[in-house]
Amino acid sequence: MSKIVIRDGIILPMIESYSKDKDLFFKGNLYIEDGIIKSVGNEPDNWQPDQEIDAKGKIVMPGFVNSHTHAAMTLLRSYADDLPLMHWLEQKIWPLEAKLLADDVYWGTLLACTEMISGGTTTFADMYFFMNDTAKAVVDSGMRASLSRGMVGAGPTAMEALTESRLLVERWHESHQGRITTMLGPHAPYTCPPDYLEKVMDLADQLKVGLHIHVSETEQEYEDIKKQYGASPVGLLNQIGLFERPVLAAHCVHLSNEDMDILQQKNVKVVHNPESNMKLGSGIAPIPELLGRNITVALGTDGASSNNNLDMMGEMRSAALLHKVNKKDPTVISAYQALEMATKYGGEALGLPIGVLAPGKKADVILIDLNKPHLYPLHDIPAHLVYAAQASDVDTVIIDGQVVMENRNIRNIDQEKLFFEITKRAERLTSK
Ligand SMILES: [Zn+2]
Repeated sequence: MSKIVIRDGIILPMIESYSKDKDLFFKGNLYIEDGIIKSVGNEPDNWQPDQEIDAKGKIVMPGFVNSHTHAAMTLLRSYADDLPLMHWLEQKIWPLEAKLLADDVYWGTLLACTEMISGGTTTFADMYFFMNDTAKAVVDSGMRASLSRGMVGAGPTAMEALTESRLLVERWHESHQGRITTMLGPHAPYTCPPDYLEKVMDLADQLKVGLHIHVSETEQEYEDIKKQYGASPVGLLNQIGLFERPVLAAHCVHLSNEDMDILQQKNVKVVHNPESNMKLGSGIAPIPELLGRNITVALGTDGASSNNNLDMMGEMRSAALLHKVNKKDPTVISAYQALEMATKYGGEALGLPIGVLAPGKKADVILIDLNKPHLYPLHDIPAHLVYAAQASDVDTVIIDGQVVMENRNIRNIDQEKLFFEITKRAERLTSK
């Protein structure tokens, strides 16, 4: 049993839909019991806390949900940049990834977790390989994650990847009080042909888990799939029945109106990765149109080699700004909508009780310190968080009711050892 009260904060529960006339936040206390939010505002009866956290002058809100990452790619951060996508992948990223060892993935993921915690991210959805080692880093850091073993159906590891995926789900799904969940991760329609996707779907249904897949990231992918199968990537996946189960679809940059109809009808969850799409020159996803159709759109950073950080505050800002300049309209993607994508919609996309502060939800809570020069005066909280705040303003992070960072001190991770390991491994990976 553990009971925490967070006192006198400015609580932003992220439950209400945006309205000019409604109060979206209020001053008060938040009560946590055994990893679950017990009450927001009202003190429960006969309730004695074990721990008190002072939140005066701080925003108390749900932790960010980074809904599409390849965490261990932190090892490849700023190694290859400003290159065309296929050149970047074939000449730079894949040769380095071929040298990765299981231990590298552990340390690379731990670095990612450290960066994410320090910027207020409490959950991430990851697709990579050596996922047992990813899971160990998640356990050690105290984060929450939904893990998928990336599967490439056209390559020599296709069958092995299916077996590893099954083992990942059997070993880790809903383990650590539900802090780790799993999905299956077929990489993309251009790397996984339909007959392979059939096998993936069968396995997902047997194991009762959803799918995490890249969809329609580039124009090239859209055109190639169209040429090969006579349908768009979304159309093809729909034809083979992939959307008949929960699907987390990363990118969705190139979509026709019919594609958007399908995503809406099949309740597909989309992950927007604006900075990765900008940096790789992939294009601009039609996010205002998707939100207009009430499609759940979460937010992700993608891997650190195409971003190059895992900063969800920066990602919110990029999302809001990108669509305004694209539409030449400052009213598209409001600050509050960007916040919803980074919290509430992330929870919905991952199918987890996170992303809002409400009784019964997981206690994944962050405190943001407003006592900073760039955060005075306090006219509007959502605008502050999206347009003015920085990752380093996150002061305290609680995940599953455990304090993992307090006053910017990260508890579970020895950063000196971490930086030593990362430097050593990055040197080995890049040596000829
Ligand atoms: Zn990705």
